[in-house]
Parts: sequence; structure tokens; C-alpha cells
Amino acid sequence: MERSIEAIKSDIFARNAGEPEFHQAVAEVLDSLQPVIERHPEYFELAIIRRLTEPERQIIFRVPWVDDNGHVQVNRGFRVEFSSALGPYKGGLRFHPSVNLGIVKFLGFEQIFKNALTGMPIGGGKGGSDFDPRGRSEREIMAFCQSFMTELYRHIGEHTDVPAGDIGVGGREIGYMFGQYKRLTNRFEAGVLTGKGMTWGGSLVRPEATGYGTVLFARAMLETRGESLEGKRVTVSGSGNVAIYAIEKAQEFGALVLSASDSSGAIHDPDGIDLDLLKQIKLVERGRIGEYVDRRGGRAAFLEADGSVWNIPTDVALPCATQNELDGDAARALIEHGVRVVAEGANMPCTPEAVELLQADPVALFGPAKAANAGGVATSALEMQQNASRDSWSFEHTEERLSEIMADVHDRCRTTAKEYGDPDNYVLGANIAGFTKVVDAMIAQGVV
Ligand code: GLU
Repeated sequence: MERSIEAIKSDIFARNAGEPEFHQAVAEVLDSLQPVIERHPEYFELAIIRRLTEPERQIIFRVPWVDDNGHVQVNRGFRVEFSSALGPYKGGLRFHPSVNLGIVKFLGFEQIFKNALTGMPIGGGKGGSDFDPRGRSEREIMAFCQSFMTELYRHIGEHTDVPAGDIGVGGREIGYMFGQYKRLTNRFEAGVLTGKGMTWGGSLVRPEATGYGTVLFARAMLETRGESLEGKRVTVSGSGNVAIYAIEKAQEFGALVLSASDSSGAIHDPDGIDLDLLKQIKLVERGRIGEYVDRRGGRAAFLEADGSVWNIPTDVALPCATQNELDGDAARALIEHGVRVVAEGANMPCTPEAVELLQADPVALFGPAKAANAGGVATSALEMQQNASRDSWSFEHTEERLSEIMADVHDRCRTTAKEYGDPDNYVLGANIAGFTKVVDAMIAQGVV
């Protein structure tokens, strides 16, 4: 039996070869756990870390469907049911060509601790497919979603596993998958998926929740330094649901938001992002970010192919696009410009080098994804709660609950980090607080 975190880590890396993102996520959590293990040497005997890093179940399946040219396409579907210690597996589905088992495992692993931090009764899981929705017609998207659910339905349920959206999966895809689930099971089981439409069991504030929550978290971080978002410069990457609603909330708090991006490039608007225009292009027309510059005019500029939004001088940086998008060079540029707060809206957008640099900087505070973007899944848990009681709450009430949850997540991180020596170390606080909660439940439930 391994008796050190380093030995456990090498064993996990060897068992999960060829999954760099999973290794990165595991290392980030395990590296924080040394002080906890010192207090609890019995965790070695109980194989707590080995059990927590081994998914309870991993499902990989074929997804055949017919494209608009009558050709049969085959994609690969995944659902990794990681931990049910705290509740039914809970986590999104990602449709993106980069999706593979290692990526789903990294996301599922992170989800365990994120979900624990929300204080809601949800376990951790994640899924998706290497399907690329870009350029696909409505009919093709529907055909794919129906085929995906034709296999997935036998593994999920309101008390078992509750998927939601992630990159490439929004309200439209959840709708097609819910329709197929209903047809296959003959059950209107609203609580089986979250992120549903407002008229058929969805929760108000769910589309906005991840972005709003990230900004609430960033604001709480600034407040620890006696600062607010009023008048602050904010840079954002991405232009999906997370980025767009982060921009909305930051603007509501009086910040000047300078940027957005997508896979085709990035934009810098020194006069502040015109959010209605961005929403129209990205959410309604599903167009490319470059169109923003043409239609906005003024000083808005398209950044060259290698131009990064992280070179723009800013007070608050919110990476809301995808994993490993903010590297060491980007962190150095942000630090040079005196960044105050970096809060992760996406999952693991900062590379380990970037995290290290930001944490070492005396001015910058770093908010890791599992805390900063927990508002999305927390509001999914509120959606489950409304479904279970056949109720639907007002926007104000739901947003109030989201604000309370984000304040609690922030407090939990700081209190735990303080207990272990450094209240500003949100990585330590988030990892230890999430881990402790899950481990307590695992121990109570025996070796299962
Ligand atoms: N995909 C989101 C996340 O990374 C939300 C998952 C959910 O709502 O279940 O947390």
C-alpha cells in the first residue's frame, strides 16, 4: 500500500496513461492534501485517495446517426459516474471534437469537489461526445441528441445520475435529449436533466448562473481587499453562456468589460462590450466573434490570430472559454499589468504554471474553477429541488439562493484555507473543504 501522496500520484498516473488533463486535475487536488493526510494517516489504510480517483463507473458507447447527405456518422459517447458519496452523480455533457475519456475524467473528478463545495446533495459525474456541433443543421443536432440519449437513458435517472449542459450543450440540446428520454421511458421525469426550458421544468437563472456566480465570487475576492467591481477593468475570454452572463453581471456591478473570444479569435473593445450585440451574434445567430467588430465600429478591434485577451491591461481576468487557455506567459502579462483577481469561469482554464505564478504574486488573488464556477451546478441542484416539489421559483428568489450559495462557497474556501495557514490560498481552501466533505460521507458509508 502506498503511504505517501507522491507514491499514490505515480500509481494513478501509471494506471491512467495517456490522460494528461486527468493527471493535471488529480495532481492539483492531491498536492493540496498533504496537511490533511498528516492529520489523518488512517486515510492510507482506508485507501481514500485511490477510491476517490477511481470512477465508480465509466460508460463508453457508440453514437450512430445519419447526416443531411444521407451518410451514416459514428461518434463516441461517454458518461463517467465518478462519485455518489453525496448524492446522485451530477455534471454536464460536453459535445466537442476534443472530448475523450481523459477529458471527461478530469471534468468528472473536478465536479466531485465543486459539487461538494456548493453544500447541495449532489455527487460528481461528467459526460459528452467527440461530436462537433459546429456547422451542423438543426435536424442533424436533433438526430445526434436522440441517438446519444438512446444509449444514455438506461444509465441515468433523477435518483441515479442527472446530466446537464457544458460546452456545445445548451437548452436546445437538453430539449432534444429530454424529449427522447421521455419517449423511451414513458415518464415525464423532470429531475433527470437540468438546464431544461422554462416552460417544462427548467429553472430561472440556470442559463445565467455559472457566469453570474463567477462574478459574485470575484467580487467577494475583491472585497477581502476592501475593493469593489465598480469602475474596474475586466477581461473575459469565451462568448458562450458562461462568458456572456459573466459580462452581464460584471457590467451590472459597474465594471468596464473589455474583451470576449471564440475559437475563431478574440475582440478588444476599449469602450466596453456592447452586450446586446454580442448576445445577438453569439446566442441568437450562432455567428463568429469577428462580426462584432464589423457591426460595432468605433474602437473595437479584432485581435490577430495569436493575440490573447490576457495581454490587455486589466484589474480582473475571467477565463471563461476552456481548459488550459491561460498559460504561464499569459499569467506573466496579467501580473505585469497589476491584475487583482483571476477567477476561473471555465473548468481548469489556467495551466499549472499560470496558477503557480498567480498564487506567488503578492497582488493577485486566484479563484479556482471548482469554487468560482460552482454557481452553475448549484443552480442545477436548485432546479432538481423545484422539480422534486413540482414548483417553480421566481427569478428573484432563485438569484437570491444563488448569491447565498456563492457567498457560502467563498466563506468555506477562506475559512478552510485559514485553518490550514493562508486565507488567501483559495486552491488549498477549495480542495480541502471539498475533499473533507466527500471523505466524511465515504467513511460513513463503508467500503463501497
Ligand atoms: N457543466 C457545468 C459545470 O461544469 C454544470 C454542470 C451541471 O449543471 O450539472 O459545473
